[in-house]
Amino acid sequence: MADNPGITFERLPHPAPTDPAQREQALANPGFGTVFSDHMVTIDWEEGKGWHNARIGPRGPLSLDPATAVLHYAQEIFEGLKAYKQDDGAIALFRPEANAARFNASAQRLAMPELPEEVFVESVRLLVDTDRDWIPTIEGGSLYLRPFMFASEAFLGVRPSKKYTYIVIASPAGNYFKSGAPAVSIWVSRDYSRAAPGGTGAAKCGGNYAASLVPQAEAIARGHDQVVFLDAEEHKWIEELGGMNLFFVFDDGRVLTPPLSGTILPGITRNSLITLAREAGLDVREERYSLDQWREDATSGKLIEVFACGTAAVVTPVGKIVSHDGEVIIGSGGPGQLTQKFRNRLVGIQRGTVEDTHGWVTKLA
Ligand SMILES: *Cc1c(COP(=O)(O)O)cnc(C)c1O
Repeated sequence: MADNPGITFERLPHPAPTDPAQREQALANPGFGTVFSDHMVTIDWEEGKGWHNARIGPRGPLSLDPATAVLHYAQEIFEGLKAYKQDDGAIALFRPEANAARFNASAQRLAMPELPEEVFVESVRLLVDTDRDWIPTIEGGSLYLRPFMFASEAFLGVRPSKKYTYIVIASPAGNYFKSGAPAVSIWVSRDYSRAAPGGTGAAKCGGNYAASLVPQAEAIARGHDQVVFLDAEEHKWIEELGGMNLFFVFDDGRVLTPPLSGTILPGITRNSLITLAREAGLDVREERYSLDQWREDATSGKLIEVFACGTAAVVTPVGKIVSHDGEVIIGSGGPGQLTQKFRNRLVGIQRGTVEDTHGWVTKLA
């Protein structure tokens, strides 16, 4: 379904871009997901016509018919990636082609048309280039990019939509977790699952997040930062957090992360860290790991570090795991050495202070 590859973007002038002084003020402390840049990219798809009407213009509200399919049956997918301003002033994207490929994998699962990978990457580059002044230069700052696609046909019947809208917006971001990167406390959900075999767990779709909000709220209400989900069948095996993958580090040099069994989102940060850890000589295994084993290994001291990873927060140490059966502290309860080493290495590659030997970084001219 990958049609119309040679797409060109129409450029619609912005009538009133944000005043530079106001923009600088917003960029000093952007937080996460509340400040937005001036522009957005939009591309339409229609059955029989394919992708068309590609444009970049002023960011603004959408006008949708109340019967628009996405509002009823949640046919929607998204991506998340970041643009960084490096020390020498260059603007870098981290593995955007991996996001493009995953976007199409999600599209397939949600019965949506694929967007040619080069069009996805070009749309992101174009928005970053246009709104390059919106990349924060504060420590840990980046321009978070959110490409997404939704069913835009006005129709209440249940079948794949005949119209879709693809949009990219950009949001300057500081550090994801308010407190920077200290160790977080994780709550084990007993009553809820994130994804079941045959479901949409491996697709990056809004519906997965909708289902994770109640368990996440439960974690917060109990005083924790994040929820961890177990597998839906046996309620035994560790899967992932609502939006981050998990790694376990042992005292014998083993590093373990749950395998991509179809219910776990294939994180690009996860994939990058597996590569970096293997290069560092560690014995990285993609194996199932049970909650009981986690508890036992943390108590015996075999398990020395746990961290979560994802684009938004990069690498986040996990200090504590709490369930209905009690709490277990991991290592010292603070950020572990290897966790910090991996975080620094990955952030260094993204920021251009560590050599990129894998061709992961794409620079804008
Ligand atoms: C996006 C996401 C991740 C992290 O993926 P990255 O590509 O590393 O950002 C992990 N889990 C879920 C459920 C996600 O949606």
